Amino acid sequence: MKIPKTADILGIINKIAPISLAEAWDNPGLQIGDPSAEVTQVMVALDPSPDVIDSALKASCQLLVTHHPLIFKPLKSISTTTPLGSSIQKAIKGGLSIVSLHTNYDIASGGLNDLLASKLGLSSVVPLKVTTNCELFKLVVFVPVDHVDKVRSALFDFAETQGNYRDCSFAADGVGTFTPLEGAEPFVGTVGKLATVNEGRLELLIGRGQLPRAVKALLAAHPYEEPAFDIYPLLNEGEKLGLGRIGRLPDSTTLGEYVGQLKKVLSAPVLRYVGDPMARISKVALCSGSGASLLRDAVRAGADLLVTGDVKYHEAREAEDLGLALIDAGHFPTEIIMVDDITERLARALVMAGYTSCNVEGCRTEMDPFRI
Ligand SMILES: [Zn+2]
Repeated sequence: MKIPKTADILGIINKIAPISLAEAWDNPGLQIGDPSAEVTQVMVALDPSPDVIDSALKASCQLLVTHHPLIFKPLKSISTTTPLGSSIQKAIKGGLSIVSLHTNYDIASGGLNDLLASKLGLSSVVPLKVTTNCELFKLVVFVPVDHVDKVRSALFDFAETQGNYRDCSFAADGVGTFTPLEGAEPFVGTVGKLATVNEGRLELLIGRGQLPRAVKALLAAHPYEEPAFDIYPLLNEGEKLGLGRIGRLPDSTTLGEYVGQLKKVLSAPVLRYVGDPMARISKVALCSGSGASLLRDAVRAGADLLVTGDVKYHEAREAEDLGLALIDAGHFPTEIIMVDDITERLARALVMAGYTSCNVEGCRTEMDPFRI
């Protein structure tokens, strides 16, 4: 029975939402805990609130995965008289690790904003404000022909997808030469003699964020003492990632009708909106959580409407002045949808990695702190 460690689950989360995508001010990743601790029960929640931590401990979880990080700023003290200090103490005492994915999950392709875009019924969805234009590299490695498959599969985890294709690589056969020097312990050949070896030239496309891990995996899988590999910077444009999304509705509708639809889709008790309810809406921008800072980006991108949460009075007035319709659907309703998504994806990824004895459940007790 294969049991994952906290670090294994962090690795899976890093594939869903690479931490390298997070905003500079953010603090996703391991908040508290022992990376080498075994995990058989995981809870997924929006907030690491004291109530959620209690629920996770009650459910005998060893890991709590949340959207909002528990720790944002460096702590000068941990006093158990504060809610944060008490949460930290409780989690450590109860052997509960806490891992968060935040702006990395907002930004990631297939992350929270893509999920929200699909709930909003949008197609042709692209980032509203590009923050990462993935820099691409070509990794070329020379491998003895009978080891090409092993090295290739070790690198697939780090290779870029190309459109709807994953596991993209190229290999060609050739001849490599080398003379092992004194002190060498060659995998093939003899010290002092020129060796001629049938080798494959294996090529893969790797993004900057994955490059260090890819090289580490290459060195671990390659049989040679000194593998020969090259890293070429490319001028090809990589995938554009960023904050918020913008897409189109299949059929244009009125703002008033769309507000009614969203209220149901997001199970929001109330939706505040700015704009003429009879205005036609077809191009919709969105940002989960607090996204009113993207008002002007939405206007520049030609959006008829921005859907977000946490809108302040002056931002509402600015949207009105700009002629942009605005829906404040609330921070909680636009983000609580992450619980089911991460629960399902984590459970699936664990099974695919052979960890069949680790159970993942979504927290069902969280409530919007705002009541109407
Ligand atoms: Zn949030």
